[in-house]
Amino acid sequence: MTAAPLPLADAAPAALAVRTHCPYCAFQCGVRIGEGFGTDELSVSGDPHFPVNNGELCVKGWTSAALLGHPRRVTSPQLRAADGLWRAASWDEALDFVAERMRDIRDRHGADANGVFGSGALTNETAYLLGKFARVALGTANIDYNGRYCMSSAAAAQNRAFGLDRGLPFPVADVDGADVVLLAGANPADTLPPMTQWFDRQKRAGGRLIVADPRRTATARAADLFLQLTPGTDLALANGLLFLAIEDGLVDRRYVADRTTGFEAARAVALNYHPARVERLTGVAEADLRKTVRWLAAARGAMILTARGAEQHSKGVDTVHAWINLALALGKVGKPNGGYGCLTGQGNGQGGREHGQKADQLPGYRLIENDAHREAVAKVWGVSPVSLPRKGKSAFELLDALGPGGGVRGLLVVGSNVAVASPHLSRIEARLKALDLLVVCDSFLNETSDLGHVFLPVHQWAEQEGTMTNLEGRVIRRRVVAEPPRGVRGDLDVLRELAERLGHGDRFAFHTPREVFDEFRRATAGGPADYAGITYDRIDAEDGVFWPCPAEDHPGTPRLFADRFAHPDGRAKFFAAEHRPAGEEPDPEYPLFLTTGRYKEHYNSGAQTRLVEKLRRAKPVPRLQLHPRLAHQHAIRPDSRVAVESRRGRVEFAAEVTADVRPDTVFAPFHWGGREAANRLTGAALDPVSRMPEFKLAAVRIAGVRPAAEGDR
Ligand code: SF4
Repeated sequence: MTAAPLPLADAAPAALAVRTHCPYCAFQCGVRIGEGFGTDELSVSGDPHFPVNNGELCVKGWTSAALLGHPRRVTSPQLRAADGLWRAASWDEALDFVAERMRDIRDRHGADANGVFGSGALTNETAYLLGKFARVALGTANIDYNGRYCMSSAAAAQNRAFGLDRGLPFPVADVDGADVVLLAGANPADTLPPMTQWFDRQKRAGGRLIVADPRRTATARAADLFLQLTPGTDLALANGLLFLAIEDGLVDRRYVADRTTGFEAARAVALNYHPARVERLTGVAEADLRKTVRWLAAARGAMILTARGAEQHSKGVDTVHAWINLALALGKVGKPNGGYGCLTGQGNGQGGREHGQKADQLPGYRLIENDAHREAVAKVWGVSPVSLPRKGKSAFELLDALGPGGGVRGLLVVGSNVAVASPHLSRIEARLKALDLLVVCDSFLNETSDLGHVFLPVHQWAEQEGTMTNLEGRVIRRRVVAEPPRGVRGDLDVLRELAERLGHGDRFAFHTPREVFDEFRRATAGGPADYAGITYDRIDAEDGVFWPCPAEDHPGTPRLFADRFAHPDGRAKFFAAEHRPAGEEPDPEYPLFLTTGRYKEHYNSGAQTRLVEKLRRAKPVPRLQLHPRLAHQHAIRPDSRVAVESRRGRVEFAAEVTADVRPDTVFAPFHWGGREAANRLTGAALDPVSRMPEFKLAAVRIAGVRPAAEGDR
């Protein structure tokens, strides 16, 4: 079914278009999708009326309709046959098989032997229902999602410092009024390209941009000041800036006294970070440190924004605390055009972490170990609070516990490609292969389903309505644009049918996302992320509604922390954080830093974007960035093959020789699986608080690969 077109202000060709949002990242650009002229294809254009992207899209957005009607779409459930190949099955056969195996695993090994792995790409409705399915229908504590790999360090630090985690506590449009923006480990020119319009406006208004990154990225090239720090030293950098703020008398003493607690402990730690030490640790010159802190302190509005480069470390939470400490000490948080924010990555990375698919959480950003929170949610679900499982394993720990040794024997994966996205990949592949039951629920086969026993084909982004929450905390609507292929079902149908077979159908009798949303609103009411006042009609009328929004006559909350923070005393908390080495540092055997990241043409594990011809042609293979001096040392020429080895694996890449990367560092994109998977090299050191794996730093060595001679072939 194609949705009725929504009224648009401008004339044809947009007049018949449906307004919705791009399927990929957390910017959730507004798009208009309509019939292509004279073709059967759908055309995509940027929605000029959506106030986040203002009509701009990146190449992934422009090409997103290629996923609809794609020839690789799977249109019937698949079961793994005895010969190892897939065979098509009816929905009843596949669902009966899954439910029977899940029941059997539960009966033989206990409820926690079934696990669920969700995704930051799912709508709020699906994420909510998946959390409920795990806790009520399966009764397992073991549910987590791939957002744990994404924003969990920033989320944990914001919760501890501010009492609330919303990626950006202000609309993205506030960037254009900031005098200074500091980006730490963020490369929006490649990861959120339409966001650069806000930095352009900020610069035109006289603002300054500072970028801290080990690579001279496209974003760094546009900066007024580029701090090319050693990988894994953001924490020392932020502490060093706080040292200088203290030394130069730039701390906003009134703000610190009136609005915060814990400054003295953070001050005592920061005083160990004198500029000479910080220069030695980070490689950033003292003059640049002094310039950075002077610019930030003098700004009326100053923003510090972090992303995965600073966060995906075994000290990611402490690193974010150090940046927040600096923003608080300078008195910038909660002020106009200023503060701290995290640039969330996945399309619904924000909503996905609020509504119960995280091991330690219940809907509304409630905590599963909090008795009052358990009671509130249990009441909405019509179950006893005692029946709700307690906190389960975090994403990597859940995957590492798969198989007889770890105790988790069955896994349902929804919308996530863990066999590309997980660190220490060979170890996780072995765990996945050891499962009694691996069920993958997705639109396309991927590297994870290659190891699975059952594949359940479900609707994709433009075939099912629902809500998403973008990086600003703005709740928006994903609308139906295309008819799903025959044979494919919605996530909600799959969960309802499985719940019925597991004896819990009465609590999952939802047939539309709107029905789920109505219960979901009640389940969030009174929680930190309160969506009770948000309706589909309001989202349509207001171009999204910012949570918290506790009542239908509440305007929503675009800006947080102007008057008070979310801790009971209304104050923000400093957390003293010492710099410490990464889980693995370069040594004589493995002398280089490996850091990983994204291409603008691909998204996360590449499961979707590698299917889009234009994107695949633009970036067909992963290439290893290395400095010309390093390339010369190893006799590696541009485009020749280079082998990268860590203690966990070996991967070959084509060489991209560039002075944009430090001579002690190599960079690889992580969008490919199999033998090209960068995550064969990364390790499993976890942050002690967020349980974020250390994706951004591994110790490696490299060697040129001799082309195969005729006789070798
Ligand atoms: Fe916008 Fe992100 Fe989609 Fe690009 S991938 S069009 S930045 S939502």
